Order: sequence, then structure tokens, then C-alpha cells
Amino acid sequence: MEDPIKSFTDLKLNPWLIRQCQTIGVKTPTEIQKAIIPHVLNDEDCIGCAKTGSGKTLAFALPILQKWCEDPYGIFALVLTPTRELAYQIGDQFLVLGKVMNLRVSIITGGMDMVDQGKELAKKPHIVIATPGRLADHLDTCNTFSLNRIKFLVLDEADRLLSGIFDEQMRTIFGAVPKQKQTLLFSATMTDTLEQVKSITKKQVFVWESKQD
Ligand code: ADP
Ligand code: MG
Repeated sequence: MEDPIKSFTDLKLNPWLIRQCQTIGVKTPTEIQKAIIPHVLNDEDCIGCAKTGSGKTLAFALPILQKWCEDPYGIFALVLTPTRELAYQIGDQFLVLGKVMNLRVSIITGGMDMVDQGKELAKKPHIVIATPGRLADHLDTCNTFSLNRIKFLVLDEADRLLSGIFDEQMRTIFGAVPKQKQTLLFSATMTDTLEQVKSITKKQVFVWESKQD
């Protein structure tokens, strides 16, 4: 069957976002992007599984930025990821796309001064990208910012975030975000934990990229 979605325009992304993609050499959507973006724009919770390097970051960054520019306020999205390196990579992708719209991104990971980070969070960045440990430290110790109005919670590398090692920090974070929000989970592998998440939530759209190696 012929694929009805071929381009970012078919995905109903705004022209400014498509232009920004082109400036970084991203011209046509990958499979996971084609599969996930319509559901995110349609306000649905999603679990996306696709192998490493398949473009999962833009599968959430593009629709989040589109929604953000329709209604930009406060801390709009929180992206959790297990490592500092991944946090910076995700931050770079958001910034390169959003800088024309004056997007403010904060990376909250270990290795930086807590007080400086607290001040940065107080200025209400639009997107916060964090590792669970450092973000939970902020939530436990300072009150410079609030996550209670975020619109999006993204768990990047969700299999690792939900594997057990971050349980205490994840509990702190889940306690600080609103019930009403869109939750997006991404992973390269489908684990038992993700199976459980999938089975207990009714409204989730589950996309397993067909072209797995
Ligand atoms: P994953 O999270 O699935 O491992 P990434 O989101 O980190 O993958 O993307 C891997 C690389 O592919 C990045 O360098 C990214 O800029 C690039 N990329 C993402 N989407 C596209 C696309 N549609 N066309 C070309 N390159 C892309
Ligand atoms: Mg990734």
C-alpha cells in the first residue's frame, strides 16, 4: 500500500518548523516520526518504540514545538532522559529548531551549580530537559519553580527511566507534575515495564516501528 504521508507538510507541521528542519538537513520524516506526530498533534498519549538512530527526538520535539508556539507560556514541556549526554543532545535539537521563535531551553543535569540552575528555572524556560536525579534534587530542596502547569511530559529512553534505578526520583517528579498533561514515552526496546505501562493506560497510542532490524 502506498504511504499516504510523505512529507512534514502532510504531517500538518507549521511552515516555520519545516523551514527550520530544512536548515539542519532534515527533509523527509522517518517512519517513527510519521507514525507518532499525528497522534501527538491530536492530544494523545503515546508510546513509541524504534531502534536507536531512527529519529525519536524529533518525533516528540516537532509536535511539542508546534503546540508550544500556539500557546507559549511557563514551563511547557518536561523531557526526562537517563544521561547528561542525552540531555544535551536533545537540548541542541530543540534549540536549533526553536531559536527563531526565541525558545528558552534549560538543561538540568548533575555537574552544574544547583543555585545557578535554580535561578535559571525561576526564569521559566519553555522546555526543561533533565536527568531524574538532579531534577528531583531541585524539587526536594528549592521552590524557585513549579512544574504544575506543564503540558507535556516526555520519557526519553523510557525503558531505562522505568527500570527501577530511578524509582525514587521518578516518584518525586511524578508528584510534581499535573495529572492533566500529555505523556509521551520513547524507547528502543520493549521491556516488561513498558508492557505494563501499556496495559494499564487505556488511551495510549502504541507505535512499534515496523522496520526494526
Ligand atoms: P533516536 O533517539 O531514535 O536514537 P535521534 O532522534 O537521536 O534518534 O536521531 C538520530 C539522528 O538522526 C540525529 O542526528 C537527527 O538529527 C537525525 N534525524 C532525525 N530525524 C531525521 C530526518 N527526518 N531526516 C534526517 N535526519 C534525521
Ligand atoms: Mg533518543
